[in-house]
Amino acid sequence: MPERTPYIAANWKMHKTVAEAAEFVDALLPRIAATQSDVVLCAPFTALTAVVERRYGTAVKVAAQNMHEEDSGAFTGEVSAPMLVELDVEAVILGHSERRQYFNETDEALARKVAKALTADLEPILCVGESEEARDAGETEEVLERQLQADLSGIEPGQIENVVIAYEPIWAIGTGRTATPEQAEETCAFIRDVLRARGGAADRVRILYGGSVKPANAAELLSLPDIDGALVGGASLDAEDFAAIVEAAG
Ligand code: PEP
Repeated sequence: MPERTPYIAANWKMHKTVAEAAEFVDALLPRIAATQSDVVLCAPFTALTAVVERRYGTAVKVAAQNMHEEDSGAFTGEVSAPMLVELDVEAVILGHSERRQYFNETDEALARKVAKALTADLEPILCVGESEEARDAGETEEVLERQLQADLSGIEPGQIENVVIAYEPIWAIGTGRTATPEQAEETCAFIRDVLRARGGAADRVRILYGGSVKPANAAELLSLPDIDGALVGGASLDAEDFAAIVEAAG
């Protein structure tokens, strides 16, 4: 089985001004200097440049939290892949449950966004996850399979190894309620099985767990065979906490 480099991403959501983002990066970099993991800071659009400029010469990558699927056009308030690439941004979160829930992001649009991101050389961090009702009804696998098949329908099987998948059970995001290690591993393994069945190098795909990851639970989650990293919301706002999670990845 190929070695998968751990991938630890900070999703700041709508937090951090430019000054706060700069302060965070300055505090983080010395704490993670020895990491062998991919460390990715997903900043609000306004703070991207400040983060990009501070991380030059380090292993830290920078990601946006959303992107429109067209290169340009009459889409007030949107930002496109070429605009992100021009800033030296390397990745983009797509399909976060908050965007699906509050901004009506659809699987159809996500299929176009994932394809566009890859064409533009941006690494998509595609988020999938079930609601509490779906889990309670025993429909987790059905929901995830539907999201994966739809959101990846615009790419060739061979492109899958350039996509990062974040499994984020909606009931665990920002709630303090983490999936148990068994639930997280079982579901991430299921996601890899779905990717394998679609063809392409599923064993090379980084699958992250996201949902109330903290310094206290990171090491156990990250030690599981099909969990290759974490997408961290709340605990990524503090440089010391986030550095501790990076350290837990080894
Ligand atoms: C997220 O927003 O992607 C997330 C996982 O948030 P939290 O870590 O706060 O649950």
